[in-house]
Amino acid sequence: MGVLIRCKSHEPQGRSNTYVAYAEPVGYPDTAVVCPSADHDENEAIPGLAYMHQRDFRRYKDGKRKFETPTAATDIVVSDRYEKLE
Ligand SMILES: [Zn+2]
Repeated sequence: MGVLIRCKSHEPQGRSNTYVAYAEPVGYPDTAVVCPSADHDENEAIPGLAYMHQRDFRRYKDGKRKFETPTAATDIVVSDRYEKLE
């Protein structure tokens, strides 16, 4: 499954993908993890947050900090800072 990287403006929506929280990547907002949305200019690097499904959020709460991204193209490491979504 993995975490979805998006900035605040592109927070994931939709019923089929229920993200319950996001965590800040290590170093956020001075991070190499950036939002991949095509709405941003090619060279515009907007810091991304790691949105988690319930299962990953449970692991996060248990102390896991390294997560896959959906394509498994890269893994990212998140910090202790997070926020629960509504
Ligand atoms: Zn964005």
